[in-house]
This record gives sequence, structure tokens and C-alpha cells, in this order.
Amino acid sequence: MILDKFSLNGKVAIVTGSDTGLGQGFSKAFVEAGAKVLGVSVVPSTATQEMLGKENFEFITADLSTLDPIEGIIQKALDAFSRIDILVNNAGIIKREDTIDFSVENWDSVINVNLRTLFFLSQAVAKQFMKQNSGGKIISVASMLSYQGGIRVPSYTASKSAVKGITMTMANEWAQYGINVNAIAPGYMATNNTQALRSDKDRSEAILDRIPAGRWGTPDDIMGAAVFLASSASDYVNGFTLAVDGGWLGR
Ligand code: NAD
Repeated sequence: MILDKFSLNGKVAIVTGSDTGLGQGFSKAFVEAGAKVLGVSVVPSTATQEMLGKENFEFITADLSTLDPIEGIIQKALDAFSRIDILVNNAGIIKREDTIDFSVENWDSVINVNLRTLFFLSQAVAKQFMKQNSGGKIISVASMLSYQGGIRVPSYTASKSAVKGITMTMANEWAQYGINVNAIAPGYMATNNTQALRSDKDRSEAILDRIPAGRWGTPDDIMGAAVFLASSASDYVNGFTLAVDGGWLGR
């Protein structure tokens, strides 16, 4: 039956950026759908664990600005839950500075977390899927700036445009192993990432005026798309970036 295809019973997910915001939404969605989750964040995901229960949600604290933690993350997921079925590349940062003065530091820090580690973690998890001979699901978090230029955020736009691109590359090569690689492009969501925008009255009003749904999104808004792309309901969906944006892109 179709609803059974959305079940994540017995599945194991890794979710990066799991201590807050959208990462909490992904983790909650997966646990509610029956999966176990290993969260990964630069700060401890204690609040998420309290919300979801230790039997459903374990976490590891790791700085994804380098590739060093990748092996340990995979090992921790295997130690805790014996297998891996789903990876969500959600951890991400944004740096705002006029493009004319944009620093190398603000370029490198964003590209490292949002793109470099995202790719190599995906590659390592895909190797684990192949070793398990199980197939698997990789979901990366893209952005409206996978489609648009944005203002004062060149490294963020570069990283998110590239995430959309390499989602297709990875899908093209790994679909033959039963691995679905897709992305979710959230619109403007009320999280720490947009705190600065939301506290700027003019920018906040301009953004809100342009969202057909008439409100900022919340972490709960990505839960449906998350479960769809993590479950066998999406087995024939490959390399696609799904907007969850209250209509922003269509405007
Ligand atoms: P957030 O700032 O609340 O969360 C970012 C997460 O990334 C946190 O869990 C943080 O601990 C983690 N993180 C940051 N640097 C890290 C590092 N070096 N190592 C490990 N973890 C690190 O913001 P959010 O809105 O929940 O962002 C989640 C994702 O969604 C990001 O990729 C962001 O770019 C993307 N996104 C957000 C919006 C939005 O409107 N909020 C829109 C489009 C895309």
C-alpha cells in the first residue's frame, strides 16, 4: 500500500546540523516515520536528543569544516545502529559581506562546510551503501540561492548552486546502485540562519511580501519532503532539487 512506502521502519539516518533548526525537523520527521538517527553537529545535539529520546536519536559532536571527522561519523552510526540507509547533508553556514570586499576567509569557511565536506561525506556514505549492497538515500539541503544570486552572500550562493549541480552528478553515477541523491531547497525559514534577516525590519517585510504563502517557513514544513525523499516512495526520483518555499520560486 502506498502509505507503507513512506515508512522508515528499521532505517538508519545520519543528519548533519542536528542541534537546531531544519536539522531538528529532519531528525523529528525520520524518528516519527520509524527510523533511528545519528545527529552530527559542531555543538552537542542535546536538545534534539531530549525531544526524540536516546533510543531513537544518538549524536556525535564534530566540526565539518574539515574532512577529518568523516570516518568517525560513519563508524559511530555503525556502532550505534549497525547500518546506514539515509544521509542528510543539512549543516551549513552563511557569511554576509559586500561582494566587493568579500574576504578569502568568508569564502573558504562557507565552501568548506556547505560544499567540500558535503561532497566527501556523501561519497563516504555512498561507499557504505555499496558495501551493504542496500542502496540508500542522500538528501542535501540546497537553497533559493541555488537558483538566484542573492545579495552580499557570494560564497553561500556558490556553495548552494554547486550543491544543486553535484546532486545531479552523484545521482547520475550512483542511481545504478539503488542510491537516490536529491536535494531540498528551503525557502525562507525561521531559524538561526535567517535571524539577521528577520531582525532587519525592511528586509524582513520585503521578503514576507514576496512569499505567496504569506509566512516564513518552519522546520516542520520540511518534514513531508524529507520523509518522501528518504523513503522508498521516491525510489524513481533521482538528482532533483525539490523546493519547499511557500511559492517563492514561482513568483
Ligand atoms: P541553523 O544556523 O539553525 O543551523 C545550521 C546547522 O549547521 C546547525 O545545526 C549547526 O550546528 C550546523 N553547523 C554549522 N557549522 C558547522 C560545522 N562547522 N560543523 C558541523 N555542523 C555545523 O540554520 P538552518 O536554517 O537550520 O540551516 C540548515 C540548512 O538549511 C543550512 O544548510 C542552510 O544553509 C539551509 N537553508 C536554510 C534556509 C533558511 O531560511 N533558514 C533556507 C535555505 C537553506
